[in-house]
Amino acid sequence: MNKASLECRHISLAYGATPVLRDVNLKIEPGEFFALLGPSGSGKSTLLRLIAGFNRHQSGELLIDGQDITGVPPHARNVGMVFQNYALWPHMTVWDNVAFGLVERRETKDAIRRKVGAALELVGLSDYAQRRPAQLSGGQQQRVALARTIVIEPKLLLLDEPLSNLDKQLRVQMREELKNLQRKLGLTTIFVTHDQEEAMTTADRMAVLDKGILQQVGSAAGLYDFPQNRFVAGFVGTANLLEGEVTALSGETLTFHARGLGPLTLPRPAEPPAVGAAALAFRPHQVSICVRDEQGDASRVWLDGQVESAEFLGEFSRYRVRVGEVALVTDQPHYAGIAMFPPGAQVRLGVEPTQLRYLDR
Ligand code: ADP
Repeated sequence: MNKASLECRHISLAYGATPVLRDVNLKIEPGEFFALLGPSGSGKSTLLRLIAGFNRHQSGELLIDGQDITGVPPHARNVGMVFQNYALWPHMTVWDNVAFGLVERRETKDAIRRKVGAALELVGLSDYAQRRPAQLSGGQQQRVALARTIVIEPKLLLLDEPLSNLDKQLRVQMREELKNLQRKLGLTTIFVTHDQEEAMTTADRMAVLDKGILQQVGSAAGLYDFPQNRFVAGFVGTANLLEGEVTALSGETLTFHARGLGPLTLPRPAEPPAVGAAALAFRPHQVSICVRDEQGDASRVWLDGQVESAEFLGEFSRYRVRVGEVALVTDQPHYAGIAMFPPGAQVRLGVEPTQLRYLDR
């Protein structure tokens, strides 16, 4: 099977006067399962369609295996795309839907029989070849759309929100199937989603887009543990963000003036931030909570607060705690018998200093 690399160099695209992609630089390695993640309207589909050849960028270069394909029409790019609504032919059987691209390419009858048979087997639909799309479940239609795309042996597989039409349970099952299929084929795959959980559970690496600007590229854990800016910190997972300013750095400590909270003396990280405006980000589950008079672990940074709200979510309880003029969120793992803090409780929050991230954007 083909494995291609894809590279975007300084890609920009505008619809009229509205910029939609701004100076996108991205390299996707051969065989990677890569997610484009971002909120609705961030430009994900526009970028995917551009790779497929349905959109044209105004500046920059788009390269497959190092070759600029800007002028190459969609059908000559050898890129397979699965659309959100699957776009199956309703009057054709599953078999004929999958065979369509091969017939168009005037492949021999023998080759078509062999390739369609193999593609249907790969997606587990050999017994459904004579059905029509309307006689299939959403998940099965999705698999037909996949079979129809991989049967032409594309160099790149593009998936536009492939799971968004499925209900929650099926989505979880299909994302595993998709991942297994991609592993089996080793096909360079780029998939668009607005769902961070979907991106994190399936992709080898992902790019986070906001307002047409690539915010950060990396593995799920890389983005979650080391977000580069406020947007990524808040979009990949949940984050507490304290706005403020780094005012002083000394040998062992750092002073951060948190807006609405006052000065905090914190351990100086190995790679300290510059003095100046910054936000301090940390995850809710990295904050412990205890009653006010309890002596907490001395390695943590302790803040006094009052519980504003408590939500029981099964696996954990989420507390919003007012500290000074800001509200911080803490998630506590749950087990039967654990005491919960009611709204109004006077508590202390312990922040794990190694997990603090300073963001200057
Ligand atoms: P996403 O896939 O992240 O939801 P899109 O790439 O579909 O975002 O859209 C990005 C922006 O471009 C949106 O603001 C959208 O309204 C705009 N847009 C998309 N397609 C067109 C078009 N054909 N003409 C004008 N604006 C468009």
